This record gives sequence, structure tokens and C-alpha cells, in this order.
Amino acid sequence: MITVEIMNLIDLLEEMGIHPKKVASRNGGEYHSNCPDCGGTDRFCIWPKQGNNGRYWCRRCLRSGDLIQFCRDFQGMDYKSACAKVGKQLTNTHLKRKFSHNESFVPQILSIPSDIWIQKAIEFIAKSHQCLLSTPSLINQDKDRGMVKQSIIDFQLGWNPCEFFEPRESWGLQDQSADGGSRFICLPKGIVIPSFREVTPIKIKIRRNSWKPEDEYPKYHVVSGGMSSPSLYGNVKNPIVLVEAELDAILIQQYAADICCCIALGGVTFKPDYFIDQLLRKAPCVLFALDFDDAGKKAFIFWRSTYQNLKAYPVPRGKSPGDAYTLGVDLRAWVQSGIRSFGTTTGI
Ligand SMILES: [Zn+2]
Repeated sequence: MITVEIMNLIDLLEEMGIHPKKVASRNGGEYHSNCPDCGGTDRFCIWPKQGNNGRYWCRRCLRSGDLIQFCRDFQGMDYKSACAKVGKQLTNTHLKRKFSHNESFVPQILSIPSDIWIQKAIEFIAKSHQCLLSTPSLINQDKDRGMVKQSIIDFQLGWNPCEFFEPRESWGLQDQSADGGSRFICLPKGIVIPSFREVTPIKIKIRRNSWKPEDEYPKYHVVSGGMSSPSLYGNVKNPIVLVEAELDAILIQQYAADICCCIALGGVTFKPDYFIDQLLRKAPCVLFALDFDDAGKKAFIFWRSTYQNLKAYPVPRGKSPGDAYTLGVDLRAWVQSGIRSFGTTTGI
């Protein structure tokens, strides 16, 4: 019998002359190093013992994946040679996923916001989170969203008590007043909904307080300078439920975090970036639960042709998961039966 040496992510980096430093012991150890692609000093995060094949994530170019993906991303290998190199068995599911790749869609690689933006975001999120924690009922004040205090804590939701403006430069953004744009960044009153990649804030949305359809401004305000990628909630190894709104994704997580991961597109026309595209391709199944209006049906054409592991799974009542909840739908049972109907072996 031939024994094959099993390599881990640290071995692969060492082989390339990169020496990761251990920065934490949680999750079997976290290491930082420069990125094999975009350089730097400590932007490349590695968790060699997470899952079966470890995980890596670059905070700048946002490349991410496991041991096999590392060989494909940074060592120019195809799937088969990557497996041979790291001593893993080829599996049919892996091969099936590889060949279902739709080559016509090329997702963008987005950069995370500047360090100044991230620092300002951390402060604003923390302040508004404290404000909501002191009066959690504010989250359900204009309608019953069903959101419990633990979800406010888990997803760092917040409340901005009054609208204010800050110079764009203080968030590390360019003053656009010379080009007819704004010199200020706007933070309206309302529910603060942050999005994170690992622990770094990458996007902030604010659901305007007492918004009405006839208002001049849209219901959701996106704070300038954040990433325009979809938001991710929960364990990425679980089947994915794809929804339109961030608060819907959080509500589903409240009831089904142990069985699904949620991705909120943030708008029906949004497309996945490279990071989200990779997660979708690797997912055991993707339940497409966007609002089933005309725009949602139109978007479905793109999604169905791009991800072979995706199927339409609208909520049984109302337009969105949030609507369904208020109409009495058991969101956990709905997710469970969606996963079961896929016929996947996810342990449910
Ligand atoms: Zn990088």
C-alpha cells in the first residue's frame, strides 16, 4: 500500500518561502502571513485545522478557500493534481461541482474598505449597538420583525438615534464636492445593519426610521465606502439560503443557524463577488428565496444558469421570508423541507 503524506496549508506556504506566524489558538490555531498573490505582511489569514482541509482568507484581495483551492489559486494546479499533491482522495461530488462551472460569468474580486473606514465603522457599529441593546424594542417599533435580543447581539445590530453627517475624509474617503458630489457621509436615523467578513466590518446599511413609500430617499441607506458584495451569515459549510434583504437573512439564522447559512444579496440585481461565488459553488445546495416578484423571477434566470446546485425555493406565503414570518410560517421547518427536497446528505 502506498502512503501519501498529507500536507496542510502551513506546509504549502512554507514550501513557497512564506512563514506564517501563529496569532491565536482558537479553532485549532490562526496564523497570519503575507498573501502569496497581493503581498503585504499579515493580511493573509490561515486556519490550518478548520474543517477537513483548513481555510485561508486574504483581507485585501479576498481570495479564500481550502487546501485544494490554495493549490489552484496560488500554484497553478488543476483539481486532480491539487488532490494528488495534498494527499486527498478525489470525490465524485467535487468533480461534479468542478464541471458544472459556468465559464461565462466572471465574478469581480472586490477589495475590502480602507483601514480608516473599518475603524470608523467599528466605532459607529459599537455605539449604535449599545443604543439598541438598551432599548431592544426599537428594532420592532414600526412592525414586528420577530427579532429577538440574542440576534441583535449575534449580528451586532444597532440603532442610530439621530441623523448626522461627517466629512468623507474622516472615513478615509475622497471629498467629492469639487466634482459636484458630497463632502459629507450621511448616517440617517434608523436600524443599523452591519455586514462582516470574518470579523471585519465591510458594509453598513441603515433602515430609515418611519420610512414611507412616498419618501424622497430609499428605505435602506448604504453608508458610502463599504463593499458592494452580498452579506454572509452563519456557517459556510451548511446549505445556503439566498435572500434579498439582510434582516430576512438574520431572521432565518435566528431559527435555523445550525442547518443553513444565509446570503443576502442586498438588492435583486446584485451579483456575487469572487468570495461569495466560491462559497456558492462549494455549497451542498443553494435555496433561491428571493422576493418572488417580476424582478426576482428575472434574476432567477442568471442564478439558475450559473449555479447547478441551486433551485427556486420561494416562501410559501407572502413575498419574502420576513413577510412569511409575520404570516405565521415556521421558517425553520421551511428551510428543513427545502434541504430535504434537494436529496442531499447533510445530516438533517
Ligand atoms: Zn491577497
